Amino acid sequence: MSQAAIKLQIQLTRDYYKFFSKYTKGKPIDKKVAWVTSFTPVEILEALDIAYYYPESYAAVIAASSKEQKFLEEAINQNLCKDCCSYSCCIEGCVQLEEGPRGLPPKPNVLIATNNQCDTLPNWWNILAKRYDIPLIIIDYPGEYAQRDIAFEYVSNQHKELITKMELLSGNKLDYKLLNNLIDNSNNSISAWNNVISLLKKKQIKPTLLFDDLSYLITSRCKPNIAEFYSALASELNEKPDYDGDAIPLFWLGYPLWYHTDRYLTEILDGFRIVGSNYITWWNLDYSGKDVFEKLFNAYNYTFLNLSQKSRNQKLNDIVNESGAKSAVVLHNKSCKCDFVSARDINIPKVELEIDMVDRTFLNIDNARNKVNLLKEILCTK
Ligand code: SF4
Repeated sequence: MSQAAIKLQIQLTRDYYKFFSKYTKGKPIDKKVAWVTSFTPVEILEALDIAYYYPESYAAVIAASSKEQKFLEEAINQNLCKDCCSYSCCIEGCVQLEEGPRGLPPKPNVLIATNNQCDTLPNWWNILAKRYDIPLIIIDYPGEYAQRDIAFEYVSNQHKELITKMELLSGNKLDYKLLNNLIDNSNNSISAWNNVISLLKKKQIKPTLLFDDLSYLITSRCKPNIAEFYSALASELNEKPDYDGDAIPLFWLGYPLWYHTDRYLTEILDGFRIVGSNYITWWNLDYSGKDVFEKLFNAYNYTFLNLSQKSRNQKLNDIVNESGAKSAVVLHNKSCKCDFVSARDINIPKVELEIDMVDRTFLNIDNARNKVNLLKEILCTK
């Protein structure tokens, strides 16, 4: 990576984690803190100068640091079932034991959960709200099934209420022009990220890079320097040689395996090459609209996992076709049933693997290898 891109990346990582170590060292933080789910309208928090953290993302970092097992065990001690989402179990263990690879996310003043992704999150946030005895705000996004005008009014009212509550918490008054600029930043980050994604099928690029670098879009999408970072990354990747081998183009349908150094099963995918993944497109939100409320509504009411099965099928098949994949690995994720259900109707030969994105003990690698070999045999004899 170029020096400029590396510098930006270091800066972005430092910015996100700076309060973790401060907090762990017992130093006070000069901002109000929210813990949020992945598809929270964080532009509102950013505009009001509230710090926000994503426990789901931190669970991925914990697994990438090989520290997840201890926390998963602790979660069971706390009476959480091992079948619950591993992100939640991992974080429960982390906060209970008060340790983590980068310290602890600063204690929240408020919890904000959304249901535009899954129903696990509002329930998990309820557990956190009891733990910290702090206010919990749940934003209900009815998704595609509700009539659009009614849904718009319903969601916008909740966004307005969120603004009022966050103004009270932060002591700041929302500057709508700033909010609009932050939404523009999110939009620019997504455009720049799309340029990065488009290179995966053409160039000699390991998907690991994309699985990891997506985290900036999740945690910091409305910051101005994300688009700059992704543009630098795209320029860099564009310089790589075109791929001209004969590996079978494969679509990775599911989460990255955070505990794996490569984030996917390199050891059993010899002869395949990942050309696409649904996960790396999930944060490509559509912020179109004539004002901030319409932009936030379009972005957060119509997240991929909040669409109808029919729309998800359509979208997914479009992404798969666009990638040029001729086969797919579909993760039957122990943690995330909604993700697996999304993937049930794709039209290329596929293999389904029982797996978890955090809990490495859940995978039977021999079984997975046999299935992948069978897929390869089928594809090669066609
Ligand atoms: S992994 Fe799935 S179940 Fe867990 S929080 Fe994310 S969307 Fe919800």
